[in-house]
Amino acid sequence: MILLAATTQSCSSSKKNTKAIVAPAVVKTAPSSESIVIDIEEPRVAENNTAVAQSQTTAIPNTPFENIQPSISTPEREVAELHATGIQRNYDFAPTIHYDLRKPQFVMIHHTSQNSIAQTIRTFQLAHTQVSSHYVIGRDGQVVQMLNDYQRAWHAGAGKWGNITDMNSVSIGIELDNNGSEPFPDLQINALLILLNNLKSKYRIPQTNFIGHSDYAPGRKDDPSTYFPWETLAERGFGIWYNANYLAPPPPTFNSTDALRIIGYDTSNLRTAERSFKKKYIRTDVSSELTPYDIMVLYDLYRKFY
Ligand SMILES: [Zn+2]
Repeated sequence: MILLAATTQSCSSSKKNTKAIVAPAVVKTAPSSESIVIDIEEPRVAENNTAVAQSQTTAIPNTPFENIQPSISTPEREVAELHATGIQRNYDFAPTIHYDLRKPQFVMIHHTSQNSIAQTIRTFQLAHTQVSSHYVIGRDGQVVQMLNDYQRAWHAGAGKWGNITDMNSVSIGIELDNNGSEPFPDLQINALLILLNNLKSKYRIPQTNFIGHSDYAPGRKDDPSTYFPWETLAERGFGIWYNANYLAPPPPTFNSTDALRIIGYDTSNLRTAERSFKKKYIRTDVSSELTPYDIMVLYDLYRKFY
């Protein structure tokens, strides 16, 4: 029996959620033959769903992954194992050639809290860190891609946005080289805008689905920092912003908690959600309660985008 680990990871923490997936059988690779031979001595489900004990040998065609060493556990290895053997150990597995990886539906923006793009690239390449992102953007505007957009990076970790609790599976992670207490240079933001434009048109990502790590994991993550120009992004169609010149009091029926929840915030801890909202949209006041002004901002966003 082989245990494969599927992990969900934070961008700056080594904590991980691990799900054990039980692979179906012992895999033996025949170096000079045309196929991988799998010996199965497990019960399998017959047509009438009755489990029957049966020993059989199944030949599965070569895959591009077959020469990967079994002792090395990497995401590529895990995909190769699943591709060759399937997940359901009780069912026959005959892989089809017709499939896609899943399209990204969100973009999540981070700052690295590090001092150089080289340091971040090294962090994402070290085995023990268990963190990664699809793109890293340097202070000078250099864009480095580290994963294909369809692959699942480990950048979001635990959190909730709307009903999504596994953001790694549906998002592209972009890390901006920034120590967390400095402005983001124009060169870097311009490079980000070009990248976001490509991603938005390529995957048809809605404007509201460009979010920050702090939106998804309020209280645990605060990136990107209050220096990040969300307003500039929103003007170009990435994320949302309000019109400070036309704020109006909401009607008495307006429920600010519902509005936060509709935007995406996890309101199970309302104070944490409100603080995260204020840190992004108000900035000068990051207390944990909405003022009448904050509620007008929230109402404006709600009215415009939801
Ligand atoms: Zn982050």
